[in-house]
Amino acid sequence: MKSILAQLHCRYCGYQTHKKSETLVLSAFEPKLREDILTDRFFHHECPCCHKHISFQHPLLYQDDKHRFIVLLQPHFKEDLPELQTTLAYRKRMVFTNEELMEKIRILEDGMNDVVIEHLKFLLVEKLQQKVRYYDADLASDTLWFETVQGDPEWKAIPQSTYKTMEKRCHLDENDRNFIVINADSYKNFIEFR
Ligand SMILES: [Zn+2]
Repeated sequence: MKSILAQLHCRYCGYQTHKKSETLVLSAFEPKLREDILTDRFFHHECPCCHKHISFQHPLLYQDDKHRFIVLLQPHFKEDLPELQTTLAYRKRMVFTNEELMEKIRILEDGMNDVVIEHLKFLLVEKLQQKVRYYDADLASDTLWFETVQGDPEWKAIPQSTYKTMEKRCHLDENDRNFIVINADSYKNFIEFR
């Protein structure tokens, strides 16, 4: 919906080229772009010369009107970045990597509270001593699923009741106009531990 020419530089053969890429994705109108983002194809390109994979990055605003959220991917985040605001009554999040963007979309599409999800991930990481990410929610069996990130993925389940208990302790003002960072470090600011 809003295109730029991303500069591509192949680190294998040195080939330099440009690729048209989108900096604003409205998921309702561009299901193909949503799919590319969620399957980690969006920021990848095949080198026209040596056919190896080139990855690139640029800021991206992802808006989902159906589930009412906006995620801003800001790969080169600097502290002095002007504060971005929007008056839309949507959940507004800022992420710094493709992986975070993919996971955030899955969490918010499922209608989950990402503060609570980060806390549940923290509990799993403590137990397993390895990184995990949110996979999905199976509400029929009252289970939230997480997967380990390194090596072959292992599936870890957390009962929905645990999620619901923690959700009551979460205090996050979704009417805030700013884009909020909710990750493993910052989520603790939005939850009450007793
Ligand atoms: Zn190449």
